[in-house]
Amino acid sequence: MTPRIAVIGSGPAGLSFARVLHRHGHPVTVLERDPSRDARPPGGTLDLHEGLGRLALEKAGLLAEFQELARPEGQAMRILDTDGTVLRDWQPDPDEQANPEIDRGQLRDLLLGPMDVAWGRAVTEVVPGGGDGVLVRFADGRQETFDLVVGADGAWSRVRPALSSVTPQYTGVTLVESSLDDIDTRHRDLAELVGDGSVAAYGVNRSIVAQRNSDGHVKVYAKFRAPLDWHPAPDRPAGPAQRSFQEPADVEAVRSSLLALFDGWSPTVLEFLCRGTAFVVRPVHAHPASHTWAHVRGVTLLGDAAHLMPPLGAGANLAMLEGAELAESIAAARSQDALHDLDELDELDDVVRAFEESMWARAGRWATMTLAGLERLVSDDPSQAVALFDDVQPS
Ligand SMILES: Cc1cc2nc3c(=O)[nH]c(=O)nc-3n(C[C@H](O)[C@H](O)[C@H](O)COP(=O)(O)OP(=O)(O)OC[C@H]3O[C@@H](n4cnc5c(N)ncnc54)[C@H](O)[C@@H]3O)c2cc1C
Repeated sequence: MTPRIAVIGSGPAGLSFARVLHRHGHPVTVLERDPSRDARPPGGTLDLHEGLGRLALEKAGLLAEFQELARPEGQAMRILDTDGTVLRDWQPDPDEQANPEIDRGQLRDLLLGPMDVAWGRAVTEVVPGGGDGVLVRFADGRQETFDLVVGADGAWSRVRPALSSVTPQYTGVTLVESSLDDIDTRHRDLAELVGDGSVAAYGVNRSIVAQRNSDGHVKVYAKFRAPLDWHPAPDRPAGPAQRSFQEPADVEAVRSSLLALFDGWSPTVLEFLCRGTAFVVRPVHAHPASHTWAHVRGVTLLGDAAHLMPPLGAGANLAMLEGAELAESIAAARSQDALHDLDELDELDDVVRAFEESMWARAGRWATMTLAGLERLVSDDPSQAVALFDDVQPS
């Protein structure tokens, strides 16, 4: 008997899990809410760390292909004072490979490879404990059962309530995202400032970061302390998604609120906000640093569904490694081929239980670091942000 395994979500966690199982010849059903691969913009760039995201790619057999796409020069970092004075200007050596960057869309396509995804399958509920396995209910009224359901469905997971009553809490910090296209031809002054990687300016309880993606695309992030309902979008229905991000229709109203918040900053730095084409408001939510649950047979969580952290360069890396590790452990247990039917499901359960213990320990350490890091990055003493950069800068 082959265990029926489903992963909910085709983000970095879900695809890493599925791709490693696929590599070992084990079937897995990937169920994704988005109606198609290109249903929404894939987002900005990610730096993949050695021993985390890159280890996951190695387990998936994709490291060489990653290296073809990765941008090691994207690690460059320039830090400015609010008046535009350059405080740090770090350029990686040509062979510096600590944290090369890759666009999220490229990473998704790399992980997806030849696998099939069941698009348009929004899960509403997961019910463990049934005689025929774990029941998965979908928004379109359909339902299916599986032996193992892996919730890799992100911050507002619909799988998580089967295991835990914990929900993400607002950190008090909001991030507003904007972008610029064709920066090297249309915004040469800003292209020079961004360089090959990122430029960041830190002030009292706020910052502006611009980060180069491939093809001359630049993502701009303004980060500051604000109430949760900073610029709500009244036309969106209330619910978890509204708490996680909003795209206000009145772009100019958001722009002028931002310019008021950053009043007195260098006009050059403010140009990133003046020229941005649209804004996405993302209140930063997080789980408590230690999020565990009583093990439930047949269901587990990976990535943001298990441990939502502030965006400080760890979430996708951990998500990928967890997906790859769980898949590898399942494949290793099954390849022993010693047990069948019910015994095999017991063994699968043991594998998941052991995986959860190691995931909780590692994620807890990273959650503590990233929560503390957010406090230093958005602090009433901006020198804390520069010191954080000095602490983590590759030698
Ligand atoms: C601005 C920003 C910058 C970041 N930068 C970095 C970085 O540089 N490095 C880094 O490591 N991390 C970074 N992160 C964090 C990173 O994006 C997340 O930790 C990572 O995407 C988590 O991956 P995941 O697969 O767990 O969840 P997600 O990426 O959220 O994927 C979840 C998937 O599940 C699907 N889904 C959701 N609900 C359902 C449902 N009900 N049914 C079916 N499917 C569903 C979604 O459509 C999605 O495809 C950043 C985050 C932000 C916001």
